[in-house]
Amino acid sequence: MLNLILFGPPGSGKGTQSIKIAECFNLAHISTGDILRSEIKNQTPLGLKVKAVIEKGELVSDNLLMELLENAIEKEKSKNGFIFDGFPRTNFQAMGLDTMLEKRNTSISLVISLEVDRDEVVKRLLSRAKLEGRVDDTEEVISNRLQVYHNQTAPLIDFYKKQKKFVEVKGIGSTEVIFDSIKEIVSALI
Ligand code: ADP
Repeated sequence: MLNLILFGPPGSGKGTQSIKIAECFNLAHISTGDILRSEIKNQTPLGLKVKAVIEKGELVSDNLLMELLENAIEKEKSKNGFIFDGFPRTNFQAMGLDTMLEKRNTSISLVISLEVDRDEVVKRLLSRAKLEGRVDDTEEVISNRLQVYHNQTAPLIDFYKKQKKFVEVKGIGSTEVIFDSIKEIVSALI
């Protein structure tokens, strides 16, 4: 199996690139942000529970996330593997993911990190706010999300570097050029 994590701060283009990678390599795209937003839209009990947290730019609880992941993984059996987008975001989630994959006799193949500086991500998120109207794309919430990323998610870089599973890709430029560099890296794995 090919199991990838697309890593990077909010606004680094994980969603866009994940969709393309999933299609190209026949992987199941698992975006925890998309799953959570759909729960909110459908006003499920889970959606109602997480709405306020997401609107503040905080992280949804690890236990809830792990449950969600387990369900998402179970649903996908016919693909070559997974591309995780927006997950894991904490040490707890990263360790939980390892255990979950181990149980299935597989593991993370590689973490691909989209390198985009802070000014650029803020610019992108603010322009996305105008286009999509995501409630967590206001200036105040964006700055909180970046802080949360810095405090809780960025430490995972070391976790994966120690396992020699971390590679960086320049995340600025055209979508196609960025995708080509990712494709080259992934192709070398198979
Ligand atoms: P972005 O990467 O642009 O911040 P996402 O769509 O990945 O957007 O996530 C949106 C929000 O959903 C996050 O700010 C957080 O509140 C919640 N969320 C998504 N994934 C996770 C996760 N793995 N753990 C905790 N909360 C999450």
